[in-house]
Amino acid sequence: HKWVYTFEEGRADMKDLLGGKGANLAEMTNIGLPVPPGIIITTEACNQFYVENRQFPPGMEEQVREKIKTLEAKTGKRFGDPENPLLVSVRSGAPISMPGMMDTVLNLGLNDETVQGLARAAGDRRFAMDCYRRFLNMFGDVVLGIEHVKFERVLETHKEQCGVNFDNQLTAEQWQYVVEEYKKIIERETGNPFPQDPMEQLFNAVYAVFNSWNNDRAIVYRKVNKIADTLGTAVNVQVMVFGNLGNDCGTGVAFTRNPSTGASELYGEYLINAQGEDVVAGIRTPQPIATLQEEMPDVYRQFAETCTLLEKHYKNMQDIEFTIERGKLYMLQTRNGKRTAQAAIKIAVDMVNEGLISREEAVMRVEPAHLDHLLHRRIDPNVNLEVFAKGLPASPGAASGKVVFDADEAEKMGQEGQKVILVRTETTPDDIHGIVQAQGILTSRGGMTSHAAVVARGMGKPCVCGCEAIRIDYDNEEFMVGGLTVKKGDIISIDGATGQVMLGEVSMIDPELSAEFQQLLEWADEIRALGVRANADTPADAAKAREFGAEGIGLTRTEHMFMAQDRLPIVQEMILAATEEERQKALDRLLPMQEEDFYGILKAMEGLPVTIRLLDPPLHEFLPNAEELMVEINTLRLTGGDAGELQEKEELLRKVRALSEFNPMLGHRGCRLGITFPEVYAMQARAIFQAVVRLVREGCKVIPEVEIPLVIEQNELAFLREVVEKTAEDVMRETGVRFEYTVGTMIEVPRAALLAGEIARVAEFFSFGTNDLTQTTLGFSRDDAEGKFLNEYVEKKILKDNPFVVLDRKGVGKLMQMAVQAGRSVKPDLLVGICGEHGGEPSSIEFCHLTGLNYVSCSPFRVPIARLAAAQAKV
Ligand code: PEP
Ligand code: MG
Repeated sequence: HKWVYTFEEGRADMKDLLGGKGANLAEMTNIGLPVPPGIIITTEACNQFYVENRQFPPGMEEQVREKIKTLEAKTGKRFGDPENPLLVSVRSGAPISMPGMMDTVLNLGLNDETVQGLARAAGDRRFAMDCYRRFLNMFGDVVLGIEHVKFERVLETHKEQCGVNFDNQLTAEQWQYVVEEYKKIIERETGNPFPQDPMEQLFNAVYAVFNSWNNDRAIVYRKVNKIADTLGTAVNVQVMVFGNLGNDCGTGVAFTRNPSTGASELYGEYLINAQGEDVVAGIRTPQPIATLQEEMPDVYRQFAETCTLLEKHYKNMQDIEFTIERGKLYMLQTRNGKRTAQAAIKIAVDMVNEGLISREEAVMRVEPAHLDHLLHRRIDPNVNLEVFAKGLPASPGAASGKVVFDADEAEKMGQEGQKVILVRTETTPDDIHGIVQAQGILTSRGGMTSHAAVVARGMGKPCVCGCEAIRIDYDNEEFMVGGLTVKKGDIISIDGATGQVMLGEVSMIDPELSAEFQQLLEWADEIRALGVRANADTPADAAKAREFGAEGIGLTRTEHMFMAQDRLPIVQEMILAATEEERQKALDRLLPMQEEDFYGILKAMEGLPVTIRLLDPPLHEFLPNAEELMVEINTLRLTGGDAGELQEKEELLRKVRALSEFNPMLGHRGCRLGITFPEVYAMQARAIFQAVVRLVREGCKVIPEVEIPLVIEQNELAFLREVVEKTAEDVMRETGVRFEYTVGTMIEVPRAALLAGEIARVAEFFSFGTNDLTQTTLGFSRDDAEGKFLNEYVEKKILKDNPFVVLDRKGVGKLMQMAVQAGRSVKPDLLVGICGEHGGEPSSIEFCHLTGLNYVSCSPFRVPIARLAAAQAKV
């Protein structure tokens, strides 16, 4: 079996086997770019390694030895040769990039003899010793599991003894001392001397990379990003080039476009006289890439050309690592760059305009879920901000929260529902669980490509990094900036689009869609087959939905209109009425109010369909709480309060108790209310139709759809349909105005789905209420399950997703398919939509497309997400 490939043997489309990094190094090699030669040990070898109980698969080691010979032949150097040693880097590379999650070893192949050869070859002993100590440190840390601080402490002490502040001030002899000390650490910590044999070093390093696939942070990262544990990682062994050989050397990372805004400009940073890890680790704050143009114009030109070439080749924005050795450019990595949602949109639209990709491809380039934060609030540009510090704008969006200095604490507080900003000098992959739970991240060191920045952009979280003005004191859990001290728990705000950091909470405003965003959504509209409507209960929501591109309203929940302060007492009167006459009096007072609501909503949606659902929730939701009433009654009794009031409250309590149910969600709600109190539904229907008449008279085209909730049986709908139709006829007769309307039902109980064929006979449309349909199909209370047990169901992989978030295709979805089929077999042009929360969730939207629904309906802010997801479902 072939476990090892040379770069020449690979291609970009072999990511599953060679990992992302290896496949792209192979691709770059084969298109003739300057890539130091290397070999790749496959992900299959990694998976086999785990099958064999963490042992290399048979034959792998021999193949590695063979392939190393090809590297020796290409470079004229030899592994372990004291005169002209071959040195390599060893890096992990999974099929899906997991930045910083896995381990890397540089300068492998150095030992007490080869370091002399390196010194001679480079003509620089200081450089060689510096490489050696880096290697010992990384090998000790990554391969042997010795804590990095143990090495760091020796170095710091030695620098103090030598009276220097910076690493680059140490001489060759001083580095040699560090090297000797590091070897002692390794011997002390492991009980064995540092392995001098390069082959042994290599196999130890490969072993460590394979092992790192299952380290804690990699596991967390995969979980957060829903990456399969079974992919495995490849190992890249590549000939070293040195960015730390002097001032004509350097190393850097760059994006071919701005990953934050999407602007078409080279964007990145580099360090002169440094080795790869220095940039990504965020330890020294690097120079912006534009400076390279002045410092090394030729290299810059070549680099810029290479970037353009790679973009054209991959037809995507690239994230590139490079090293300059003695004025010569080497490419060490390229991959599709992570970007913010804003950048993803701009890049996709620009690339269509540049003729690089098609509209369909552009639509597929943007992750609908990532649009979320673009559609959310940002800092109001008109408020005066008290900015106390400014860092780099690493990931846009604004956030406020309590300052926390520790990832564990951020995780804990976040899980408790508190808003926190994680403040660190720099973040490392070990902080990932805290970042997940934080609203935003603030770091005092590191550039735009530091770990914190990359991870935050990937997650769509606001991040300000390299905010050097703040000095963090972890011991006292505070940071200082100027004369100001900010303590743990104090509230700050950060703006990841500008880099500003402010004290306290700042006011935020609603988002607007950029021109590129609008363009992309227009292309999505051209592609998609599914309609997109919004759930809206007020004229303002309806207007917002329309602005975001909604093609109608899929659900107006009329109960929300009953909750308003001035209406609740009248609604209570209606519920508590002892006689029909009393009830009608209350309804007569509600009628004009409802009419006004419907008038506003229908008008905002002129020309588009509006589904209005008649009253749905259990009535006790409108009544005062029994326990609170008891307290009030007892107080009145004890204090000898007003007797009349006491009597009234006691009467109220009796009614509340009489209406209380053990299972209100399965109780007297939905159309059951209409069956028992037809006058309530008649009032609502009248309010709708009177509003319609006014609008018709104004010349406004309206399309009302009257919807009956929680139906289980054709007879229910037939009965209530008659109530609605009779009301419509009355209104037409009274006003002399004729109008069109339809009557339909929600499908939100399994029986309704099972009997959809019968129900369709009396319905003009169906709308899946998948919140209730999920609740009733799974038998999970939608109000209790999530807090009580559902999280564990997902955690323990009993269910893949929370079924209230991601539609349960297997169960609920099956019912939906049956209902659509049965309904359309009776009425081929039956209009079918969905208005449960799933209507705004991309994978559920895909299912709705596949099931042949006419539209999805979701909250106004999710309308753009749904437009894009519906197009992606079609492509
Ligand atoms: C549903 O059940 O999915 C629905 C949209 O109705 P509600 O959430 O109001 O019960
Ligand atoms: Mg419902």
